[in-house]
Amino acid sequence: MVWFCIHFSYNPIPVARADLRIIPLVIGSVYLGIGPILAIAIIIIRSFYGLDLGLFLTLFLYAPLGIILWRIYPMFWRKSPERRILFTVALGMILGAMTSGGMLITHPYLYWLDFLFAYLVIPPLGIGIISFGIEFVRRNNEMQQQLIKTEKLKAVEQMGAAISHEIRNPLTAASGFVQLLQDDYLPRQKRKEYLSIVKEELHSAERVIQDYLTFAKPSLETFEELNVKSELRQIINILLPLANQNSVEIITDFSVIGFIKGDGQKFRQCFINVLKNAIEAMPNGGCLSISTEFSQSYVTIRVKDTGIGMTSEQFERLGEPFYSTKGKNGTGLGMMVVYSIVRAMDGEIWGESEVGAGTTFHFEFPTITSIRKGE
Ligand code: ADP
Ligand code: MG
Repeated sequence: MVWFCIHFSYNPIPVARADLRIIPLVIGSVYLGIGPILAIAIIIIRSFYGLDLGLFLTLFLYAPLGIILWRIYPMFWRKSPERRILFTVALGMILGAMTSGGMLITHPYLYWLDFLFAYLVIPPLGIGIISFGIEFVRRNNEMQQQLIKTEKLKAVEQMGAAISHEIRNPLTAASGFVQLLQDDYLPRQKRKEYLSIVKEELHSAERVIQDYLTFAKPSLETFEELNVKSELRQIINILLPLANQNSVEIITDFSVIGFIKGDGQKFRQCFINVLKNAIEAMPNGGCLSISTEFSQSYVTIRVKDTGIGMTSEQFERLGEPFYSTKGKNGTGLGMMVVYSIVRAMDGEIWGESEVGAGTTFHFEFPTITSIRKGE
């Protein structure tokens, strides 16, 4: 930059060069602390352009300046951004005044207006613009960092509070029943009943932890080849009892092939969450259709229910941690887990919902051409 400024200069007479070297010098010394290096660079580069009076002036001015700028640097960062801008502009003006002063003393009658303009107006203006730009970007970055940090803290706080709450409830219930079980004269039937409640409560605490862990570790550990069709069949089998309980009919329409890459465990968890939501949205029965399509680049999975649906505000909040309309029966972690797994598998998810009519979710995962299938 220094070379650039000195090379492309305005020199109405051979010995006097008007250039913009003050700008990189000031900006570099106050923002990066390389003032002395820049001063030396300026002196050396300038010497290639003639061993004349201008060079002596340069030497005279820039040698002490390098040291001063070196001292200024640590002080500079302790000031507020507004003051920093003012300071750089003022520094540019002082340097400009000194340079043009030197010029006017050595060449008293020549182009004094040009030199005043070239040294008192242009460099401070350029410095002002650049340092304003730097401060602007810095402030923006700082604000963004701050925002991310508060968001993170908020999420952790919410997470902690809700998780301990979610876990404490079933644990309290379980320990209550354990206390009842201590009664020696409890009938056999009651004892059995209580034990199954304890089991159920512990299971629900475990579920919260499982959901949370999947979210906390969304990166996939193992990548395997997943046959979408057989994975989905397996998941449907797991959910069949729940579907029957709600009188939900499951209709499937699977494409013949379709392979994607991912962690099977997490893929299953993802679709169990989605399908469970769909079944839970149809407490009085309905129809759940699951279909897949296969193309060169994507495997698309569509999950459609004829359940209660969601309002647009509810739909917007989907995937927000602990957002649930199911009260005690929901953790509000399901969809959040779904989103994080889909993201980790390079997939896409979108959907639409209408209150009273039902909800449809679409998933899209990159296809892989099966190695085994290719044989
Ligand atoms: P949870 O199921 O524990 O409530 P989720 O994150 O799985 O938590 O779902 C969040 C909320 O989104 C649910 O409480 C429900 O209100 C809504 N929701 C999700 N899927 C559907 C669906 N298929 N139909 C209607 N509402 C749904
Ligand atoms: Mg759910």
